[in-house]
Amino acid sequence: MGTVSLTTTQTARTSFLLKDPTRYGTETRDAKNKLLENFSKGTKITSTTNKWGNGSVSSRTSAAVDAQYGITKTLDFYKKTFGRKGIANNSKGAQAMVHFGNKIANAFWDPTCNCMLYGDGDGTMFKKPLVALDVTGHELTHGVVEATARLEPTYVDANGNQYGEPGSLNESLADIFGSNVEFYANNPKNPPNYLLGEKLGLAQKFLRRLDHPSLDKLEGTIDYWSSSTYYTEVHAGSGVSSHAYYLLAEGSGKKTIGGVAYNSPTYRGLSVKGIGRTKATAIFYRALTRYMVSTTDFHDARVATLKAAKDLYGAGSTEYKTVDRAWAAVNVTAANTPADRH
Ligand SMILES: [Zn+2]
Repeated sequence: MGTVSLTTTQTARTSFLLKDPTRYGTETRDAKNKLLENFSKGTKITSTTNKWGNGSVSSRTSAAVDAQYGITKTLDFYKKTFGRKGIANNSKGAQAMVHFGNKIANAFWDPTCNCMLYGDGDGTMFKKPLVALDVTGHELTHGVVEATARLEPTYVDANGNQYGEPGSLNESLADIFGSNVEFYANNPKNPPNYLLGEKLGLAQKFLRRLDHPSLDKLEGTIDYWSSSTYYTEVHAGSGVSSHAYYLLAEGSGKKTIGGVAYNSPTYRGLSVKGIGRTKATAIFYRALTRYMVSTTDFHDARVATLKAAKDLYGAGSTEYKTVDRAWAAVNVTAANTPADRH
C-alpha cells in the first residue's frame, strides 16, 4: 500500500497505540497466532515513534497497519458516501485481530466480537496475511449486511459450504462494496478496479471480478442466472448480481478503466450503457438497506434495485430503465421470475 497515514492514540510522551480515536476507537491487536476470538485478550500494538511496520511481512506490525488502514478506509467510505456511522450504524468502531491462528488462509468478520480476524495465509496458495484493502472492504460489508438485510444461505453442507441465492447475493454485495472501498481510497499503490483480491498473489491474478465473473477458474463463478443458481455455492453464485452491478455502472463490451481492460459479456448479446459507478452504488446500497431481507433471491434483488432506482431517480428515468436492462443482461427478468417464489 506504500506509506499511508493513520490516526493513532498517544498514551505517553513516547508511547502510541494502534487505535483511532476519531473513528469510534477502531483498534487493531495481535492474536499471536492463537485462535483468539475475544478482542480484549488480543495483544495491544504499540510504538515509541508513531511509525508502524515496514511494508514487509518481516514485521508483525506491517499486517496490523494494513488491517487498520483497510478498516478505517472502509468506515470512511460508508460514512462519506452514505452517512453510515460504523458497520452497524451505531457509532461503534470495528476492531481487528491480525496473525489470527496458524497458517489460516482466510480473513473474516465475526459479529460476536465486532472484529475482523485476519489469518497469515497458508504459505502455499495465499502467501501473505490477508489484509488487502478490498478483502477488508468485502468482509466488513458482510458486517453491514448482517446489520441490515441479514441475507442468509439457503443451506449449509457438512463442510460448512454455503449455497443458494440470498447467500450468493451477500457475497456479491461484499465484492461490490469491497471494490468501491478501493475506488474511495484511490491509493496509487493499490489502484482501484473491479477485481477482487488482485493483491493476494494468485496465479489467475484475482480472486473474483465483477465485469466477467466466469474468468475466475478457482471458484467457478458464473456470469448468468439459471434455475440451477438456487443450488450454487455462494461465491460461485455471486457472479450474477456482481455482473449486473458492473453492467449498470460501466455497461457492456470493451472498456479500459484505470489501466485495466474489461470486456463485459451479456446474456444473448444484449447491449447495456452504464450510468456510472456512483449512481449504481447508490442504487445497490439503498436496495440493500431498505428493501432486501434474509430470503431475497436474485429476482427479488432486481425488484429491490428497481424500487431504489425509482426512489432516487424516478420511475421513468434512464437510471431505472438501465437497472432493468442490466438484470436482463444477466438473465434475470420479470418474465422468467419463478412463479412458485412470488
Ligand atoms: Zn464473503
